[in-house]
Amino acid sequence: MASQPSQPSLIVHGGAWKIPPELEADCRAGCARALAAGWQILVQGGSALDAVEAAIVVLEDDPVFDAGVGSHLNADGVVQMDAILMDGETLNAGAVAAVERIRNPIRAARGILEKGPHILLAGAGAERFAAACEIPLCEPAELIVPRERQRWEALRAQAPPSTLPERFGSTVGAAARDAQGRLAAGTSTGGTFGKYPGRIGDSPLVGCGCYADSESAAASATGWGESIMKIVMAKMAVDRVRAGVSPAAAALQSVHRLSERVRGSGGLILLDRQGRIGAAFNTPNMVYGYVAADGSLVVHV
Ligand code: ASP
Repeated sequence: MASQPSQPSLIVHGGAWKIPPELEADCRAGCARALAAGWQILVQGGSALDAVEAAIVVLEDDPVFDAGVGSHLNADGVVQMDAILMDGETLNAGAVAAVERIRNPIRAARGILEKGPHILLAGAGAERFAAACEIPLCEPAELIVPRERQRWEALRAQAPPSTLPERFGSTVGAAARDAQGRLAAGTSTGGTFGKYPGRIGDSPLVGCGCYADSESAAASATGWGESIMKIVMAKMAVDRVRAGVSPAAAALQSVHRLSERVRGSGGLILLDRQGRIGAAFNTPNMVYGYVAADGSLVVHV
């Protein structure tokens, strides 16, 4: 799988939804910072796993995104986050779900990936594991920003409460290929706004919100988790690349399937073992960025 050193590749996203014009600049800037952090690792010969983790830490720390600080609140007014990191070399993955006290859930996912033996830990057990890996815990209130508190207050004030709250969707993710040809991908989210407490979406599930296989491609998905899970979207896209489809076409076909088969909404980023990228979405916007062949950072909203 690992090959002669060659040009690395990196793509990140900050969610697929209707991005309000006033958040556009912050979303762009956040993706650019994440690309810069991941790229620095890749050009110094670092691993795809390290680059994906570093890029996602930047996005989790940025309050404009629904991951780490700035995550959406659930119906109880609590942040519960999901994250996954997958190593395309070994197909090992580490994931956390419904965690409330980990500032950077992607770091806890990395800890699980490295130390095993499990793939997905939820809630208090995941937090205990993170603490044992010396990953700092935080107070749940530290993750809540005023924008999200106000959204939740508005939801709570609705009488009768809407059955399906409006979807805001700035989940984050990244996929990388390092100079040795190793692929990795990761996804991190606060989940859907106003979700039922304990709800876990597609993001931390292998094959749904994320998949990486150095023999074919690495992908991170975003969007309505209940529909992404039904079609196992990230694995679908990776399998299409394995079958000979380009990453650009595989991303489009997977999102088309999401629309047609389950009436879902969302998007996907993807890169293959040659470093070719793909991105597609059926929402009004998706913020995503990649490093172009000349080393410049390109971000689209
Ligand atoms: N997929 C995430 C979830 O359902 C949300 C998102 O990507 O916007 O939890």
